[in-house]
Amino acid sequence: MIQINEHYTEIGNNYLFAEVARRVREYKASHPDKKVISLGIGDVTQAIVPAVIEAIHKATDEMADAKTLRGYAPDAGYDFLIQAILKHDFTDRGIPVEADEIFISDGAKSDTGNIGDILGQDNWVAITDPAYPVYVDTNKMAGRKIELLPCTPENQFVPAFPEKVADVIYLCYPNNPTGTVLTREQLKKWVDYALEHQSLILFDAAYEAFVSQPDIPHSIFEIPGARKTAIEFRSFSKTAGFTGMRAGYTIVPKELTAKTSKGETLSLNAMWKRRQSTKFNGTAYIVQRGAEAVFTPEGQKQIREVIAYYMENAKIIKSGLEALGLTTYGGVNAPYIWAQTPNNMTSWEFFDLLLNKIQVVGTPGSGFGQSGEGFFRFTAFGNREDTLEAVKRIQLAF
Ligand code: PLP
Repeated sequence: MIQINEHYTEIGNNYLFAEVARRVREYKASHPDKKVISLGIGDVTQAIVPAVIEAIHKATDEMADAKTLRGYAPDAGYDFLIQAILKHDFTDRGIPVEADEIFISDGAKSDTGNIGDILGQDNWVAITDPAYPVYVDTNKMAGRKIELLPCTPENQFVPAFPEKVADVIYLCYPNNPTGTVLTREQLKKWVDYALEHQSLILFDAAYEAFVSQPDIPHSIFEIPGARKTAIEFRSFSKTAGFTGMRAGYTIVPKELTAKTSKGETLSLNAMWKRRQSTKFNGTAYIVQRGAEAVFTPEGQKQIREVIAYYMENAKIIKSGLEALGLTTYGGVNAPYIWAQTPNNMTSWEFFDLLLNKIQVVGTPGSGFGQSGEGFFRFTAFGNREDTLEAVKRIQLAF
C-alpha cells in the first residue's frame, strides 16, 4: 500500500496565487466585457533586455553545430557565469565570496525550498510573518516545527528574536511581501544572534537589485561573521526578467558547518554540492549565457533601465494610495507596496471589493501569513499604462 508524506495534509490545498487566479478567472467568466488589471502576482511585464537576447541567440547557434554543442552542464553551473557573478556582485563590492561557494540554479524558489533537504527534521525554524509562502510550506512538508516572527507597523517590520532559540531562520530583505528592508545594523543583530546560538540564517536576497538607499545591505555577507552562519539566495527573475527563463544562484560559504547527532562536524557547502549533483539537472547552457550577459556593461545599463521603470511604477502606486489617505509601506527599496486596507477590511474583503468594483487585482496580505491580515500587496511589475489606470480607478472609487 502506498504511504504518503502525511505532512502534505497539514498544508492548505490552495497556493495563494492559485486562489487569486481562481477568483479572477471566475470573475472574468461572468463579466467578459470588463478589463481586469493585475497588480497581483509578482511577475514581470517588460521584455528581456537586448544584451541578454543577443547572448541567447548566439548560444542557440552554438547548439546548432556539433563542434560547439554543449551537453550536460557542470552541476554547480558554468564557470563563465560563476566568475561574472563573483566579480560583479561580490569581489567588486568588497564582499568575501569564493567561486566554489556559488551554485547556479533554476531560481530562488527551488533553492529556498530544496535547502531543507540537507537540514534535519528536528530543527526549530523561525520564519518572518508575513513571508513568501515557500518557506512555511516546505518546512511543513518536511514536518518541521515553525515559530512565526510577526513583522508589523508596530515593530517597523523588524522581527523580534524568536521566543525559543531558533536553529534555522528565514530572512528575506528587501522583503516580499512588505517591501521593507533591514539596515546594516539591524541585519548585524541577526547575524550576531545566529553566531551566538549557532543558528543558520537562510537569507533570501531575490530583490537586492531594487535597493536604492546606501545603508541597506545587498548581501548578508556584507556583515562580518555572516560567512559562518548564513546561506544567501539570489535570483535573475526580477533583476533581469528571467521568470520564464529560470536562473538563480545560492551562496553556501565553506566556513558554514553543522553537527550530526553524533557530534561530527559537516560542511553545508559540501552537502549542498552533493544534493545538487544528485537531484538537480543544471540550468540550461543557453540560459546561463543569457544570465552572463546581465553582467556586461550593456546588460547592466539595460537592466538598470527596466528596474528604474518598475520603481517609477512603485512611486506612482505608493503616492496614489497615500493621496487617498491609505497607509503604505515599502516601494522604495523594493518593487512591492504593502498597503493597510481601509475601514478595517480583511485582506480578502478588500481583494473582492477591488475586483468587483473596479477590476483591479492585488494580493491579499493574509495569504502571506496571519500578520498580513488587514494588508494588501500591490506589485510594481505591471506596465506603465496598466499601473496608471489601476491607480486612477482606485482613486475614483474611494
Ligand atoms: N524569493 C522571493 C522572496 C520571491 O518573492 C520569489 C518570487 O516571487 C522567489 C524567491 C522566487 O524566485 P525565482 O523566480 O528565482 O524562483
